[in-house]
Amino acid sequence: MPITSKTVACAIIGDPIYHSLSPDMHNAAFQHLDLDYVYLAFRVQKENLSETISGFKALNFCGFNVTIPYKEECIKYLDEVDETALKIGAVNCVVNEDGIFKGYNTDGVGALRAVTEGGFELDGKRIAILGAGGAARAIVFTFAKFAGKIIVLNRTFQRAKRLVEDILKTVKIPIIAKKLSYEDLKAVILEAELLVNTTSVGMYPHTEETIVPQELLHERLTVFDIVYNPPETRLLREAKSVGLRAIDGIEMLVYQGAEAFEKWTDKKAPIEIMKKTVLKSLKKE
Ligand code: NAP
Repeated sequence: MPITSKTVACAIIGDPIYHSLSPDMHNAAFQHLDLDYVYLAFRVQKENLSETISGFKALNFCGFNVTIPYKEECIKYLDEVDETALKIGAVNCVVNEDGIFKGYNTDGVGALRAVTEGGFELDGKRIAILGAGGAARAIVFTFAKFAGKIIVLNRTFQRAKRLVEDILKTVKIPIIAKKLSYEDLKAVILEAELLVNTTSVGMYPHTEETIVPQELLHERLTVFDIVYNPPETRLLREAKSVGLRAIDGIEMLVYQGAEAFEKWTDKKAPIEIMKKTVLKSLKKE
């Protein structure tokens, strides 16, 4: 569909931004459904964040995505923030609701859908989370509504501790913070049913790195790695090689995008087209 005087605009902002797969993914979805929408990417410097958001409003954008490093910072420039996003402390999706810019967090929902569509039911399960960054916060807050117990292991213990303290204000299940060490990793994985890597370890170009020695992977474990470049990380490759269910970061990327797409367009997102497009774009890189 050509750009017209009626084309509805949306975008992603971050810094850097040139690696983002979201423009390819969303534009392919708009084209597939013949929607007169366009999705752009903007590298925004911190001192211009407020003006950028005001500019989107002045131009009546239907919404935008926010990525590193502005997921927390952008909150103060929004009119409203959804309760879950506020608890997580990060917004990755903004929706223009009749002139009101409202912030949401779709990372947690995206991860939840990736896991359930991947065949893993979270209810009452024991979950080991590696990492305590922005993505981990969204995932722990979302999974805690269903899980039986969550243990967060992070290289920097204080960050895991802060995450756990924040989440314990709102949920009742046992959630424990630990410093990432071989001994704790071994003990925690042994009793876990789902292992989630939310760290950037294994991401391109360091694709041969993994936090989890293969000998710790046991037969009752499902492994979910949110890194999406490459789609099959070393952790997932090793999990598959011993017969475990492995869920990749592309699933989460697409489902978090689908959630945003549906909020902006009120149409069901074409998941398979979005997945195919993202995989094709990654191959081109
Ligand atoms: P972040 O806030 O910067 O957090 C990074 C996390 O990785 C921290 O817990 C950090 O530990 C840990 N880490 C980094 N290097 C490490 C190392 N060498 N050893 C052990 N731990 C290490 O980043 P984020 O936004 O949460 O993103 C994390 C990853 O998830 C990235 O690869 C990102 O691309 C991916 N992601 C995927 C999706 C998706 O849709 N699939 C969505 C969001 C993010 P410290 O606290 O000790 O530094």
